[in-house]
Amino acid sequence: MTKHYSNIVVGFGKGGKTLAKFLASQHEEVLVIEQSNQMYGGTCINVGCLPSKNLILNGQKGLPFTEATERRAEMTAQLRNKNYHMLADEPTVTVLDGQAAFTGDHTLQVALTTGGSEEVTGERIFINTGATPILPTIPGLKLGKRVVTSTEAMSQPDRPQRLAILGGGHIGLEFAEMFNSYGSEVTVFDHHDQLLGRTEPEVAKLVAQDLADDGIHVALNSELVKVAESADQVHITYRQKGNERVADFDLLLVATGRQPNTASLGLENTGIKLTSRGAVQVDDHLRTTVPNVWALGDVNGGPQFTYISLDDFRIVKDQLFGDGKRSTSDRLVVPHSTFLTPPLASVGFTEQEAQEQGKEPLVFKLMAQAIPKARVMEDQRGMFKAIVDPQNHEILGATIYADEAHELINLFALAMKGHLKYELLRDMIYTHPTMAEALNDLFK
Ligand SMILES: Cc1cc2nc3c(=O)[nH]c(=O)nc-3n(C[C@H](O)[C@H](O)[C@H](O)COP(=O)(O)OP(=O)(O)OC[C@H]3O[C@@H](n4cnc5c(N)ncnc54)[C@H](O)[C@@H]3O)c2cc1C
Repeated sequence: MTKHYSNIVVGFGKGGKTLAKFLASQHEEVLVIEQSNQMYGGTCINVGCLPSKNLILNGQKGLPFTEATERRAEMTAQLRNKNYHMLADEPTVTVLDGQAAFTGDHTLQVALTTGGSEEVTGERIFINTGATPILPTIPGLKLGKRVVTSTEAMSQPDRPQRLAILGGGHIGLEFAEMFNSYGSEVTVFDHHDQLLGRTEPEVAKLVAQDLADDGIHVALNSELVKVAESADQVHITYRQKGNERVADFDLLLVATGRQPNTASLGLENTGIKLTSRGAVQVDDHLRTTVPNVWALGDVNGGPQFTYISLDDFRIVKDQLFGDGKRSTSDRLVVPHSTFLTPPLASVGFTEQEAQEQGKEPLVFKLMAQAIPKARVMEDQRGMFKAIVDPQNHEILGATIYADEAHELINLFALAMKGHLKYELLRDMIYTHPTMAEALNDLFK
């Protein structure tokens, strides 16, 4: 028998769960479908942001790896339970354990976790199925006991002695530092000639130097040629500067990005279109190509952050209950952080990106060693760099690699969003000693 619901949320992610909770507060009926009872609350709390940062912090505190992973498991279990009850205890919400696939524009078949299946229809459907790791095509590369993604890396029974990481992006480097802090010997392979994609090159160089000083081996310009897993190790053949080399590791972590989770959603049975990159195609109000079906979070191909999924919720909520004006086109200022030590954070354009936009920006730089608070914290590594529009003196972008960068970047984002001139940040009275007071000197 087909059951009909006013609202169906497919996937218990950030945007979807926040929307379900809000709909419940408006006495609306909601069905939330989640394929795994280990994923209530979504990626961030179970296998993403929170467990990874918890492991990073406990590594810095010197906890042994096994104790830290136990604490991580305890924390995620508590959060998962809290998230489940946040929705399941609402009288108008039903949480259904199963994997959903569309069989029509507003019809889903749910393969239930307990066996069997159920057909449901929804007046409004919200797709919030997140993203899944990308596995590059390299001979012999397939997930296994010793070839893993970030998810399995965080629940290894023991710390790997020799860890290889494929990908020198944000997740790759956070895990490199984290495992290094637990005593693993870490090698990062990346085919680019700099780490961290389009990060300001002088900052990326400082990061690379600090990683090397910490004993992390970074193999830039290196291509994996083949991978072979045996019972007790992973053999990696890679090419660097024209030479082919072989190295053995206990574990290979593949951190080469995540793609929207659409492959098994049955979208071919609907009018919902995909982009060329496999994301659900949405307009700037997150509407798909089928009326009354929206897509929120990583699955719609936007920036892959929890706070973007949350902002997607605000956009949808505004359409359903507000004036409908909020859209992704207002979203020009999106800061992001990589939780290294010291942390790295940025917002807006890099110098090169500003130049590509036809601007010749004013560039301000300050080394962290000039900041009294950095001295107090006994970590004087890193730098600040800000890019300013020479005409109106507004900030076009900033990159901070220094203590407290992940907090400070929000100050820059606020200044950008509020169209403040850089002189205001320069002449502000800041508390002392803080990293924020560095802005007095940065913009001198
Ligand atoms: C290791 C790691 C670290 C990260 N660190 C950060 C960070 O520090 N800060 C930050 O902002 N972001 C971080 N991210 C990214 C962040 O976790 C994601 O952008 C965010 O969680 C995406 O949320 P979402 O709403 O798109 O959906 P998700 O939270 O991914 O939820 C999707 C849910 O849908 C379920 N699902 C999928 N398909 C189906 C189906 N067919 N039927 C039923 N259910 C289904 C999944 O099981 C999952 O629970 C990190 C990610 C990773 C992997």
